Amino acid sequence: MKYKRILLKLSGEALAGKKEFGYDEDVLLSFAKQIKELHDNGVQVAIVIGGGNIFRGLSGQQYGVDRATGDTMGMLATIMNGLAMQNFIEVLGIPTRVLTSISMPEVAEPYIRRRAIRHLEKGRVVIFSAGTGMPYFTTDSGGAIRAIEIHADVLAKGTKVDGIYDKDPVKYSDAVKYSEVSYDEAIVKNLKVMDATALSLCKENSMPIIVFDALTEGNMLKLVQGEKIGTVVK
Ligand code: UDP
Repeated sequence: MKYKRILLKLSGEALAGKKEFGYDEDVLLSFAKQIKELHDNGVQVAIVIGGGNIFRGLSGQQYGVDRATGDTMGMLATIMNGLAMQNFIEVLGIPTRVLTSISMPEVAEPYIRRRAIRHLEKGRVVIFSAGTGMPYFTTDSGGAIRAIEIHADVLAKGTKVDGIYDKDPVKYSDAVKYSEVSYDEAIVKNLKVMDATALSLCKENSMPIIVFDALTEGNMLKLVQGEKIGTVVK
């Protein structure tokens, strides 16, 4: 395996599959199966899960919800997603812990960096939920911070698209996919891969990012085996 410890960032939006909102059971199951495959191959897997399938702080502003309140609602959505993902992974027999950046001890463990690393060493899948625990951030930034903190080998961002393009491939048929871009290029060209905060953190700490299509089964394993899929940001 090229990567022995990975931070997998899964967007909340992907959990909804073709729906606009909520969950698609097939997507949850497909992610869980792929994560089991990684686990079975001895890869330590930490996950940061988004919340876009339920709520984003920015969208709350449309109905007069204050941004910081909306962001807190968004972070709570990521905890729901973490619990859903945990359920699907554990059904396949893989021990999994949900850790929250907003304390909720009756529901899940609080985030403690050294404990998270211990879980990984013991072969448990770790799901980081509630992002950074602070409003005005995204789960991409949470993913970058946690990847750096746990010394992951790579930040693998699983999305619905198979990499980074020069323009939106859904809207433009002539969009060209990059196989590799630099952090600066991604920031300056505003390539919409991750927000600038997440990219800057990764740049400063030399954390490579791979953006890939997580909905195609088998891709997660290919990625850790070092097969060239998606787009690498480094
Ligand atoms: N959020 C936040 N702080 C964080 C992470 C997330 O306030 O550190 C809120 C924010 O409102 C965000 C929402 O939680 O829009 C859901 O996360 P995100 O949009 O990153 O999810 P994804 O796009 O991955 O589905």
